[in-house]
Amino acid sequence: MAEGAFEQLKLNKQLLQAIAEAGYSQPTAIQQKAIPRILGGHDVVGIAQTGTGKTAAYVLPLLMKLRYPQGDQPRALVLAPTKELVLQIDAVIRQLAAYTGLRSVAIYGGVGPKSQLTALQAGLDILVATPGRFRELYGKGHIPVKQIKALVLDEADRMMDMGFMPQLRQIFEVIPVKRQNLLFSATMPPKVEHLMAEFLDFPDIIEVTPQATPAATVSQWVYEVPNFKTKINLVGRLLADESFARVIIFTKTRQAANDLYKYLQRKGLGPANVLHANKAQNSRLAAIRAFREGELRVLVATDVAARGLDISQVSHVINFDVPVQYEDYVHRIGRTGRAQQQGAAITLVNPAEVYHLQKIEQLIKQKIERLPLPDGVEVAETPFEEQQQMARAIDHQKKLANPDYQGAFHEKKKKKPAHKPGKFSIRRKRKRK
Ligand code: AMP
Repeated sequence: MAEGAFEQLKLNKQLLQAIAEAGYSQPTAIQQKAIPRILGGHDVVGIAQTGTGKTAAYVLPLLMKLRYPQGDQPRALVLAPTKELVLQIDAVIRQLAAYTGLRSVAIYGGVGPKSQLTALQAGLDILVATPGRFRELYGKGHIPVKQIKALVLDEADRMMDMGFMPQLRQIFEVIPVKRQNLLFSATMPPKVEHLMAEFLDFPDIIEVTPQATPAATVSQWVYEVPNFKTKINLVGRLLADESFARVIIFTKTRQAANDLYKYLQRKGLGPANVLHANKAQNSRLAAIRAFREGELRVLVATDVAARGLDISQVSHVINFDVPVQYEDYVHRIGRTGRAQQQGAAITLVNPAEVYHLQKIEQLIKQKIERLPLPDGVEVAETPFEEQQQMARAIDHQKKLANPDYQGAFHEKKKKKPAHKPGKFSIRRKRKRK
């Protein structure tokens, strides 16, 4: 079944093993299309959003080509616009390279360079970097570039928006000319086309459109909920309704999954079980089987544990947290409303998640109806720590949305960031106390 498809992509045993452990059962569309062409040595441009599996689409063939550790100098360079993305890519590389011995190092601004320098000196095969930090450390002679034979530009559109073109030009000047170039971008605005024209030779252009048409039989709605505790109370209230017969609840974290599960047990709203990556494989399989066979009413699952999980015929999907891999939303609601049955997908949104919900609405080209909280749901106070977390997340989103934001390269320059406490009413309220 599943592994077969990856095997057809001519990946070696070490990679197939890591793919299986990552829980990927089938290659995604971008992986199907990009992997053979990258292995074939072409320059490739992939137009694909986050959530399509684009990272593994270039990481797998790169690992395949690098094969095993060799020397101490980087042979592949991945450039990405932000520290977060650099860390995410580095994590994917480490996961998929687990059985190859290949070494990845991540470098980015906003922190001192010391530990990054130590990592560089220890030897590496792949370097993942923000353009700013790369230039800085290269300028000081810390990055040997002569062995670089493959270059990846990830989220090229965001790099252009953040004004990285000058840094990129400088980097292209110092790395070997004879190399394979890969460029990934969610969109293809003129700036990215220029970048392509300047640096890629007759690339193969691959485009995937995210699966974005929710099944027509699924009704969707959203509750705006101020905080975690109120979300729990709301789930309790919803499950008091017997029409919620076979329910999957997705949470972002294990902690939330466990808390919710305990709450359901305490209130007698089960039978329920919980599925997360920390559970032994046996107990996960047992939980899935029990749910499939109708012995469980509610299955609580973390996003990670739910990947590749194929359970259909559920009456309700509840997104306890808004999925930040936006395609997940579409996949999840696809689990309800099969075979003429009416299904429902309900998403609970706190103030820091409104941003992600809007992205999902853009993806599915549809506005999801907001419903008022049902009667009888106790609205809890938001604890200070949770307020802070939400304020930080909103701050981060604003930076992402503002094209003037200069990103990692300039971080060290703005010594004390101009504090704007007035931006968040929640924070301001607190300060007045
Ligand atoms: P990306 O688009 O690279 O940000 O990947 C989005 C998510 O999809 C990540 O959480 C990956 O772990 C996951 N993923 C990538 N490839 C696959 C696959 N073939 N099957 C299932 N999940 C995948």
